[in-house]
Amino acid sequence: MINILHIGIDDTDSPDGMCTTYLASQIVNKFEDNGIELLDYPRLIRLNPFARFKTRGNGGVSLRIPNDDKVSLAKQIVLSEVEKLSMFDCENTNPGVIFYDGEITKEMQDYAFRAIYEFLTIEEAEEFGKSVGCEIHKFKKGRGIIGSIAAISLPLDDFTFELLAYRDSKNYGTKRQIDYESVYRMDKETFPDTFENIDYSEGYIAIEPKTPCPVLYGIRSNTVESLKKAKEIVQVEEPIVDWCIFKTNQHTDMHIQKAENIASMNQFGCYYVVGEVKNRPTIIDGGHMFFFIKDESGEIECGAYEPTKNFRKVVSHLRPGDIIKVYGGIGEQNTFNIEKFQVIELNDIEYKNPICECGKRMTSAGKNKGFKCKKCGRKIESDDKVPVKISRDLKNGIFYETPVSARRHLSKPLCRMIFTK
Ligand code: ATP
Repeated sequence: MINILHIGIDDTDSPDGMCTTYLASQIVNKFEDNGIELLDYPRLIRLNPFARFKTRGNGGVSLRIPNDDKVSLAKQIVLSEVEKLSMFDCENTNPGVIFYDGEITKEMQDYAFRAIYEFLTIEEAEEFGKSVGCEIHKFKKGRGIIGSIAAISLPLDDFTFELLAYRDSKNYGTKRQIDYESVYRMDKETFPDTFENIDYSEGYIAIEPKTPCPVLYGIRSNTVESLKKAKEIVQVEEPIVDWCIFKTNQHTDMHIQKAENIASMNQFGCYYVVGEVKNRPTIIDGGHMFFFIKDESGEIECGAYEPTKNFRKVVSHLRPGDIIKVYGGIGEQNTFNIEKFQVIELNDIEYKNPICECGKRMTSAGKNKGFKCKKCGRKIESDDKVPVKISRDLKNGIFYETPVSARRHLSKPLCRMIFTK
């Protein structure tokens, strides 16, 4: 079996610029110039969405090359590119580079999942890295080693690809010159092989980043072929200086764990859990919508926040007694931030006042005094309301998801739900 050198890189960018994927693509170019081949696509691995020091999407990058006589040159290239391109001036940019030339063991895989589900410290990452034989390079505080070790170690049973096109540095920070019509055409011709291109409900071009980073656009897909086709279709009016396809864990729901019940979930964890809707969703100032779900173990408040836009309309159709499976994460406020939900069983029974023999719906005659008919004066002694089957705007078994513009990198969109592990 071929001996592999795994290279992990993380925490090189800042909100003002750079992107670890761009740095990786520069390394790949230098590798190519020096005859160093990649054994697989570069990998872009998204980690814990709640990690405190993330710049944006908490992504680390890894590369795999043969462990041969070019390895020391490869290491030199990686370290010098990280030195050259990282945003060292930013306090929160603390790059970490990992070289590892063994098999990815079960304990390394477990570590990678911990980096998705939990918070890790630089110290424990360093201790772990040393214990499995990683060569560790820390720049400044070196926080990036947490993500670098995870980026080389994470198994990808389910995966997607992202094609990233990069801008000329003289255009950084300026408006991106993308022909939006061509993006609509690309989506039409390549969806659902590509996805998350456009948020139709908001008229939002999702392939275009909104930050001053080197990325001109990023297209996400299940296949490399459709990415190449998409790139042919999308027209831009500025130079693309480079582009690179990454294999990623984006849109796989890898961050979501199964929760046995509501009480077993923890803050800053991402789960799916089944619960019964306790109250009608209500909207508060700022446009955030909340309701509770409950089960035999307890209850939790669920939120569909303002950025989820029209998704709140869908959520507003929920009624007490509905059984739903919610997917999402428990954030800062201890509310369950919904990414999507599946209706397990709708409560389509409503208890109403009885209908009088004359055909008019009766009204209460007072507490414990039954009902009376305002039209004909008839009275009923019983206080029991009667069950009435109502029609619902939601459907049993169906999934409902947040719009593209409000979706996490790791969230699996419904168009990918057939790709279950
Ligand atoms: P971008 O998406 O633009 O690449 P980013 O959001 O990935 O930026 P980074 O600059 O990579 O942000 O910073 C994230 C930091 O968090 C890195 O130092 C990484 O090692 C660290 N990190 C990743 N996962 C965890 C975790 N589970 N616990 C603690 N720290 C983590």
